[in-house]
Amino acid sequence: MPATPHKTDTSTKPWYTQGLSFACTQCGNCCTGPPGYVWFTPQEADQIAAHLDITPDTFHRQYAHQIDHQWSLNEHKTAHGYDCVFLKRDAAGKALCSIYSVRPQQCRTWPFWHENLQTHAAWKRAARTCPGIDHGKLYPIDQIRIIRDGDATIR
Ligand code: SF4
Repeated sequence: MPATPHKTDTSTKPWYTQGLSFACTQCGNCCTGPPGYVWFTPQEADQIAAHLDITPDTFHRQYAHQIDHQWSLNEHKTAHGYDCVFLKRDAAGKALCSIYSVRPQQCRTWPFWHENLQTHAAWKRAARTCPGIDHGKLYPIDQIRIIRDGDATIR
């Protein structure tokens, strides 16, 4: 999985003023790959637990682990890499998030993470593993900022 996003972009005139294109192909690359972290908040834990119809305690025990004071979703090794515990694949190999409607902010805001938006080169680097980048729907800059800051979700 990609590394966790960091909020570091303070530029007032970003390079992506014309907007950016993105349309997920459901390849699943962002939910697998090298070992990584999918951080979630206590509120997100409650939402995921409710979605799974289990208690938050059971959710933490079965699907997550703690690193220092933060919690991350578990991963398991597959032929594709270290898959998120909630990543499923259909018969055609298409990736499906089994908690899509309640997925953590880190997942909801990809690929409009601060670190990907810092420079055009960073965006292109992200595109090497995410075939959805630079394709499909054009997101205007205002919408990118709203998604980046976690106030909206990519659908
Ligand atoms: S196209 Fe990008 S966002 Fe969609 S599953 Fe693949 S890597 Fe993830």
